[in-house]
Formats: sequence, C-alpha cells, structure tokens
Amino acid sequence: MTARILVMPGDGVGPEICREAVRVIDALSNDHGLDVELDEALVGGAAIDAEGDPLPESSLEAARSADAILFGAIGGPKWDNVERAKRPESGLLRLRSELGLFANLRPAILYPQLAHVSTLKHEIVAGLDLMIVRELTGGLYFGKPSGLHKNANGRREAYNTMRYDEAEIERVGRAAFDIARARGGRLCSADKANVLDVSQLWRDVMNDLSADYPDVELTHMYVDNAAMQLVRAPKQFDTIVTTNLFGDILSDTSAMLTGSIGMLPSASMDAHGKGLYEPVHGSAPDIAGQGMANPLAIILSVGMMLRYTLGRGDLADKVENAVGYALDRGLRTRDIMGRETQMASTQEMGGAIADMLR
Ligand code: NAD
Repeated sequence: MTARILVMPGDGVGPEICREAVRVIDALSNDHGLDVELDEALVGGAAIDAEGDPLPESSLEAARSADAILFGAIGGPKWDNVERAKRPESGLLRLRSELGLFANLRPAILYPQLAHVSTLKHEIVAGLDLMIVRELTGGLYFGKPSGLHKNANGRREAYNTMRYDEAEIERVGRAAFDIARARGGRLCSADKANVLDVSQLWRDVMNDLSADYPDVELTHMYVDNAAMQLVRAPKQFDTIVTTNLFGDILSDTSAMLTGSIGMLPSASMDAHGKGLYEPVHGSAPDIAGQGMANPLAIILSVGMMLRYTLGRGDLADKVENAVGYALDRGLRTRDIMGRETQMASTQEMGGAIADMLR
C-alpha cells in the first residue's frame, strides 16, 4: 500500500535540508521500489507569516492523515517576540501532543570517519552507537498545576509539576524494551528514585515490564550519574529510557559526544508506528540560505522513517551505508570538516547520497 508522507519544511535551514531529503526519497522510489506519496504543509514561522498560526488547521489535518511526517526545523529571530502561544515552537509542541507522539527516539552514532570532530578522546567515543528513548508528552513539561504568581509575601513564585500516570510510563517503557530488544538487548532506565516519588513509580513500572522481556537486561541508574557516565564511558550504554525532562538533558549531552548536531536524526512515535521524523538541530538562522547546512541529520531521519514506520529496514541500511560512503569519500559540510577536507554544500552532500542510492 502507498504510504503517505507529509513534508513540513518550516523555517531557516528547514526547507534547504528537506529538499535534499526528498531527493533521497525520490531515489529510493525510482530505483528501489519504495511506494510513497509526498505532500507538503506549512508549519512554524512560515505558517505564521502565511496564516497567522504556527500550526494551521489544514496542516494539522494533513499531519493526522499522513503515515509519517518529515519535519525540517522551525523558529528564528523574526518570530522571537511573538506571544508564546503563537511562537513557531508552539506549533511543534502542539503537533507532538495532538498526534500523541509520546516516544522520542534519539540515536547517537559516531561514524568512525568523524571521531576527530568530537570534543571527547577518540578511544572514548569511536564506535559509539547509543539510543535514548525520551518520554515526550508528559512529565514536568506538561504537568498541572504550573504557573507564576505573587505569593502571600508579595514575592513572585513559580512552580511546575512532575507527574506521570503508570499507563504513560508503561507505553514508553514498552517502546524502549522493544527497541532495546532489536538492538543490543540492554536497557538502562535513568531516574531520580532516591529523591522523587514520581521516579520511584517510574522504576517500579519498568521493573514490572521487565518480566515481559526476559531477553532484555534492565538496569537502573540515577540520572545525575547517567549524565556523568555519558561523558566518562558512553559505550557502556545500549539503550537508555527516561522521562521528558531528564531525556531532554541526556539527549543533548549525547548529541555532543558525536561532534556535530548536523549529524543527528530523531523520531517521535505514537502507539501505532506513526512517527514524526526530524533532525535534532533547529533552524540554524546563522547559516540559513547559504548552502552550508549539513543535510545528513534529516537524511538519517529518513532512514529512521524507513525502519520504524515504513517497515523497510533494508532501505534504511542502504541510506545509512550511503552516508558512510559519502564520508569515506571525504565529503564534508562545514560543521564536520577536518583540516584536510574540502567543504561540500548542502546540495552536493544531498546529491551524493541520492546518486549513491541510484
Ligand atoms: P540550532 O540547532 O538551530 O543551531 C545551533 C548551532 O548549530 C548553530 O551554530 C547552527 O549553525 C549549527 N547547526 C544547526 N544545524 C546545523 C546543520 N544542519 N548543519 C550545520 N550546522 C548546523 O539551535 P539554536 O541556534 O539554539 O536555535 C535556532 C532556532 O531554532 C531558534 O529559533 C530555536 O527556537 C529553533 N529550534 C528549533 C528546533 C526544532 O525545529 N525542532 C530545535 C531547536 C531549536
């Protein structure tokens, strides 16, 4: 059956990198029997400019009826002073919550060709292949009550609530166990159960679930230690599962292990295999329109889409191998350049990957 993919380019470098991702999808359709239909919709600042809303109803509807969404990036200085609810970022947050995309998958893979780009020693990061599964629609970022007010002493007081219901923990836990099972068979749950009640519940639910996954080794680690271990010895991890807040921090830490944010894909999944696939980076306004953006993060996001929504792990392998070959051939966008290499533009990098797939 033809799968429907909605492309949402957004702002800044978003449209430039999406164009390259579409070239890759076209190559897979023309030469490898990928059966997809592409559509496009406005989101973020581009949607604010056109329709006064970062997620117009027509875009949300198109996203609802698609099988997968390929998302560029949103935001930029032009919209920084718009009220919070109308900011580009609100469009993405709303999209994630409207579609129930509760499991955020962030792999951190260091291609051996780029080991020198990481700020960590070669032997610490070479060969790194780690997956972080972050809960995305609950926890501290959504818990009620939250707010800012003047207290009885006339001072400003602000509060947020970290709250999880066991069903929310169970569904992201199952997603993480499934992923760990398909990878190295080891799952580490990061929490703060020594201090937080909500973390104790998290840990209890993970322990309960592990009975259904006897082939996956479950361990627990306090999140502060996990942050330390990620920069001390990151290769000890296979798959990490954690809450929204802790995952936000741990996944950015793991991003830096790989050197450039321009290499990092991500997926946000619902309970039925539908996903929103996007690079980890933002709209990079400082380099937008200059052909300098690295398209590999979004191209690798296409790889994740093939694997996790379209059931084409074979084509995902091809995309990942093509990225490896391009790096072997010395192709480097500015963010991953060594002293010895020449700079490739966004288009040259995208074109090289598409050509290799042909
Ligand atoms: P950013 O990720 O856009 O950029 C950080 C740095 O990384 C910049 O120096 C940029 O040039 C570089 N960079 C990012 N992507 C790159 C790529 N593909 N190739 C080469 N270099 C790349 O983060 P920021 O500067 O903090 O934010 C810029 C805007 O993006 C803000 O408006 C922010 O709100 C938004 N943002 C959006 C998302 C999203 O769409 N999911 C995520 C983060 C930030």
